[in-house]
Amino acid sequence: MIEYRNLRVGLLGAGSVGSQVAKLLLEHGEELAARVGASLELAGIAVRDPNAKRDVDLPAHLFTTDAESLILGSDIVVELMGGIEPARTLVLQALNSGADVITANKALLATHGPELFDAAEQVGAQLYYEAAVGGAIPIIRPLRDSLAGDRVNRILGIVNGTTNFILDRMDTHSDTLEDALASATELGFAEADPTADIGGFDAAQKAAILASLAFHTIVPIESVYREGITAVTKEQVDAARSAGYVIKLLAICERLTDQKTGEEGVSARVYPALISRSHPLAAVHGANNAVFVQADAAGDLMFYGAGAGGIETASAVLGDLVSAARRHVVGGPGVAESTHAKLPVLDIGQAITRYQITLEVVDQPGVLATIARILSEGGVSVEAVQQSVVSELIAASGPVVHSDSAPTATLVIGTHEAAEADLAATVEALAASDVVSSVASVLRVEGS
Ligand code: NAP
Repeated sequence: MIEYRNLRVGLLGAGSVGSQVAKLLLEHGEELAARVGASLELAGIAVRDPNAKRDVDLPAHLFTTDAESLILGSDIVVELMGGIEPARTLVLQALNSGADVITANKALLATHGPELFDAAEQVGAQLYYEAAVGGAIPIIRPLRDSLAGDRVNRILGIVNGTTNFILDRMDTHSDTLEDALASATELGFAEADPTADIGGFDAAQKAAILASLAFHTIVPIESVYREGITAVTKEQVDAARSAGYVIKLLAICERLTDQKTGEEGVSARVYPALISRSHPLAAVHGANNAVFVQADAAGDLMFYGAGAGGIETASAVLGDLVSAARRHVVGGPGVAESTHAKLPVLDIGQAITRYQITLEVVDQPGVLATIARILSEGGVSVEAVQQSVVSELIAASGPVVHSDSAPTATLVIGTHEAAEADLAATVEALAASDVVSSVASVLRVEGS
């Protein structure tokens, strides 16, 4: 029998993910030891309540409430508590003691990432976080290692399973947002308080992590523009379907040219957007996640799979654990977080996108000419106008006379690409125009 060196693993948290990590570690210990060249001993599990009922039967003697002592006796610490405190303090303590740390905590990384990476660098420890974005999907390692020699230009991610489930349900069942959310809650895809998901906060944290990694630049969570899905209506989803689109909550990270300085910058933003049904992301159904990466040499890549779930996320954590353990065995510098590019993070106004604008307009001669003038004055060029609804408006000519009692028609305008600030100002000008009764819907179009 081979005698392996022993590596002590301290686990912080035994909830949905932590209990599965403990189970896999205990069940597959021998095989992992053979793969790593060291045995991974689960030294202890820190929780709030050692007597709480758990999803998985785990040896009672492993449980402790003394996280600090557990950390001090560990070579590798796995943080699966979630939240900012005490997770932040404990992760710092672990790194400062020289232990490598594995975490799935996107909230912690998005808000305190630079502090944690600095602490790791000071002592030559490593911080791994494959499970923090996309659950089981390998995306951190591909961005950090596999694509390290390439130049990533753009990432479009469906990184929140709850909102994808809801929007998919609205698309496939023609549900309202409220009904789709109720189904998500019933089936366990939404938390009792779904604000972090439907408000886009969770996706924004992941966008900050992905953008920082892909563009070698610190992208603070505060600079990620965020809109959730709470304003998405059944009518918008139905109209999108008829027009060959689907609405997805997208985390978008891309390189942009700063229009003021001409220099390169980056943008990170989250909002519900229309994407063509022929785009690979349109085929991401249910609570699945996918990250679509566009790189100079590699071209288009898509990473797809389960974005959450205890056992699925545990797979990513175990992958990190094997990497960390191998480094302990063979030594070497391990992975380095690179923020050398220090690109400016641009605000949403500088993002280049397309709009689909649905207007209720006064149904009388001259309307189309007035709308075309407003768009052109705003520097926005029109790609398509929904012909069937506006045929009478196009045929007609003559001065516009606005009256509250005039009948209205619906006009759907698709724009070419323009700066977000110009598009937003143009929508404001349209809303203020006499010929527009109301702006029924404004959605961005992504994924061209
Ligand atoms: P969870 O089910 O809520 O479990 C949290 C665990 O941490 C529990 O065992 C809890 O102890 C322990 N804990 C919390 N606060 C503590 C404290 N102050 N002191 C000691 N122990 C404490 O969480 P989870 O769903 O497993 O998520 C863990 C992490 O993985 C989070 O960062 C989450 O964002 C991330 N993640 C989760 C998923 C997923 O599908 N669940 C997917 C991707 C990433 P008690 O059991 O005693 O209460």
